[in-house]
Amino acid sequence: MLCATRQSDAAKVTASETTKALGPFVCPECAKAVIVRKCRTKVDHFAHLPPVTCQYGAGETEQHRQCKTQIFEALRACPHVTKLELERRLGEVRPDISCFIGRVPVAIEVQISALSYDLILKRTEAYARKKIYLLWLSPWTDDLEFKDRYAPKLWERWCHAAYYGRVYFWFNDSRVVPYHFDPYLLHVPHSEWHGEGGEEMSSGGYDRFSKKFKTPARGRLLDIATDFVPVDHPGFVGGSMIVPPCRLFKDRFGKFDQLRFAPVPAVAQPASDEYDDDADASD
Ligand SMILES: [Zn+2]
Repeated sequence: MLCATRQSDAAKVTASETTKALGPFVCPECAKAVIVRKCRTKVDHFAHLPPVTCQYGAGETEQHRQCKTQIFEALRACPHVTKLELERRLGEVRPDISCFIGRVPVAIEVQISALSYDLILKRTEAYARKKIYLLWLSPWTDDLEFKDRYAPKLWERWCHAAYYGRVYFWFNDSRVVPYHFDPYLLHVPHSEWHGEGGEEMSSGGYDRFSKKFKTPARGRLLDIATDFVPVDHPGFVGGSMIVPPCRLFKDRFGKFDQLRFAPVPAVAQPASDEYDDDADASD
C-alpha cells in the first residue's frame, strides 16, 4: 500500500511524502498499525506489522508499486487530468489510481494475478454502478515476448473478452502495451493401429486450435492519458466467460490489427569497414 492514515489527524498520507517521525500510521482498511518503509532501491510504501491478519496490500509486489507510482506521476504531469488520487476509497472498491481524464471518470486497477475471477467481476460491476470507466492492467512481463505459445491466465482471458480482443500491460510512465491472443495451432500426430477384427484404424494427422495456448501478438505502445476512451459495454456471455454490462476505459482503436506491432525488418549492414579501422587511432 502506498497510502495510509496518519493517526494524529486521520489524514491520508502517501509513503513517499511522509517520514517515520510523522507517524504512527494505520491501515486505511483494518485500522491496525502499519510502518512506513523507505529503502533506496524500492518504492516507498506502508506495511502491516506482524501478525498480519488484513488482506489489504497483500500480494503487492515491488513491480506493482512501481507501476502505480509511475502511472500516478505521469498523469500528474498532464493538465487535462484532474482529481488524481492513489488508492481512493470508493465504498466497496479502492482503485489503485483514479482521476478524471478530460471529463471521463477513470479508475485504474493494477491486477494482482491472484485475484479471483469472482472478484474481477464484482469489482467491474461495482465501478459500472458508480459510472466509472475501468482500466484493468498488469505489469508487463517478458513471458509474452517472442513466444509463439503462451497460456493466458484466467484474468487475461477475461480482459481479452471484455476489451474487444486485447489485454493491457503496463510498460512505463503512463504507457501500456496491448496484446492480442491469436489462435495457436496444435498438431495432433497421426497414428495407426489394428482394431479387434484386424481392420486398420487411424487417427490424428491434423492441426487443431489449442484451448489452452495462444500466440501473443504485441500492439504498439499506448498512452493512458491520450489514447483511451470511455466505452459502455453491453456485456455478453461467451463459453465460460461472463462480461457483465460495464464501463471500460479502452483504447480508441477498433480492430486490434490497427494496433498490431509490425517489427522493422532487419536491414543488412553495409559491407563497409569505415567504422572498423583502428589503424588511425593515434593514442
Ligand atoms: Zn489492514
